Amino acid sequence: MIKKILIANRGEIAIRVMNTCREMGIQTVAVYSEADYSSLHVSYADEAYCIGPAPSAESYLNIEKIIEVAKKTGADAIHPGYGFLSENAKFSQRCKDENIIFIGPAPYAIDTMGDKITARKTMMDAGVPVVPGTKEPITDLDDAVKVIKEIGLPVMVKASAGGGGKGMRLVEKEEDIISSVKAAKSEALSAFGNDAVYVEKYISSPHHIEFQVLADNHGNCVHLFERECSVQRRHQKVVEETPSPIMTEEVRKEMGKHAVAAAQAVNYSGAGTIEFITDDNLNYYFLEMNTRLQVEHPITEEVVGLDLVKEQIKIANGEKLSFKQEDLGQRGHAIEVRIYAEDPDNNFMPNPGKIEHIQFPLGPGIRNDTYVYNGFEIPIYYDPMISKLVVWGANRSDAIQRMKRALKVFKINGVKTSIPFLYQIMEVESFVKGRYTTHFIQNNEQELKMRADCNMECAEIGTIVAFLDYMNKREAKLSSINEESASSKWKESGRKFRFLI
Ligand code: ADP
Ligand code: ADP
Ligand code: MG
Repeated sequence: MIKKILIANRGEIAIRVMNTCREMGIQTVAVYSEADYSSLHVSYADEAYCIGPAPSAESYLNIEKIIEVAKKTGADAIHPGYGFLSENAKFSQRCKDENIIFIGPAPYAIDTMGDKITARKTMMDAGVPVVPGTKEPITDLDDAVKVIKEIGLPVMVKASAGGGGKGMRLVEKEEDIISSVKAAKSEALSAFGNDAVYVEKYISSPHHIEFQVLADNHGNCVHLFERECSVQRRHQKVVEETPSPIMTEEVRKEMGKHAVAAAQAVNYSGAGTIEFITDDNLNYYFLEMNTRLQVEHPITEEVVGLDLVKEQIKIANGEKLSFKQEDLGQRGHAIEVRIYAEDPDNNFMPNPGKIEHIQFPLGPGIRNDTYVYNGFEIPIYYDPMISKLVVWGANRSDAIQRMKRALKVFKINGVKTSIPFLYQIMEVESFVKGRYTTHFIQNNEQELKMRADCNMECAEIGTIVAFLDYMNKREAKLSSINEESASSKWKESGRKFRFLI
């Protein structure tokens, strides 16, 4: 039985995992970089250890250091979260070698799905529809022109090792083929250290619809229905919802079966996501599999009524799934928005800095997965996501109303955020009607920006500034009063908090 878990991650996901550990009576070990000394995940864990300097390559990606902390603290398992080492087959293998449970799939599944060309071939053999395109990497530029003409423009040139929306080029004109292939190759090499690229037919009017799967180590595999993630910017998700507003019961059943077949084709274990691209007629094609917990997993939790981290831990413990496909259903509607420290008026450039004051929305149906607090300085080294705001409603329009209420009262002072922009998304007609594609933000850019500007009411800003000023003064006073008693409590609690030398 797992008694202690090291969380090899930071930010909201580290805290998310620790919350479930607490409910299960499992001890938690945090690791952190020097830049994260005052991060909430550090004080949230039962134990916390510094593993190196700020750059990820020297801390959160340092496999040996993380393994060393796990061994010294006697952690029986490691949860990798998402990003960082979560899809690193070497890390999964190193854990195995050290008799530490990796809360995720075996190295074989990560490797097969991590390379998109290999994944496509595996899916074809398993009878899962893939986007029409090349089976092998493009090596010769003349070949590229020939192959792309055969597939028919427009196409996507994609990095086989790609992820996070990087290493992708849309090619619409014949004269752009060679330069696009070259550009995709060099971007892939610098981002992933691997320049293999392949070609996919560009699906027009695309919808990104993905299926959550769960598989145990006893041959059982179920899907937890779909998530619609078509509101994207630079091929990265901005808003996610479930159920998908364009899904039909018939297609859901079929896609769900294919998602399970995809996972079983690599003998999958744990929680994973099969991403599909679909057209307006709900013809669907496998895009990729993410062999980890997904950023947007909370919307599935809200609608299906399961704790996915708990399921991951139970599977890692060797338990059988405690439900069958026919036991599962979707109840109500959930939406997630990713709130970033970024400037919508400056091309969404990251805008890290100090959070002077933050006010979270409260009330029925609201969940806020976050790691920031008043006075927290968002480090410049990592993804500038502040919070994942998730709402649940009895139906889609209730959920949209609830999201608007939540975003209206969600105040962050000190850094610019995407909150006004996200609010506007909830008002655009095609979103409200549920008729949108991955081009949604691009197609509505002017409206989204224009409205975001007028959302800022001067009167409201004045009230906030006055309120913040009052709060800051009050907090300064309270903290000076409490400082002494707080520090003695800290000592008494006996919490282990130290550097590992
Ligand atoms: P999701 O669908 O969960 O949003 P993404 O593919 O966007 O998944 O990735 C989630 C996180 O992992 C993001 O922070 C992203 O930047 C990071 N990420 C994904 N793939 C890679 C990769 N190959 N290399 C580095 N970071 C990655
Ligand atoms: P990543 O690993 O970076 O997440 P994906 O293959 O999942 O890459 O693609 C990310 C996004 O790019 C998709 O959600 C979709 O919006 C767009 N995309 C990828 N392939 C295609 C395609 N063949 N046609 C249209 N859009 C695509
Ligand atoms: Mg993807």
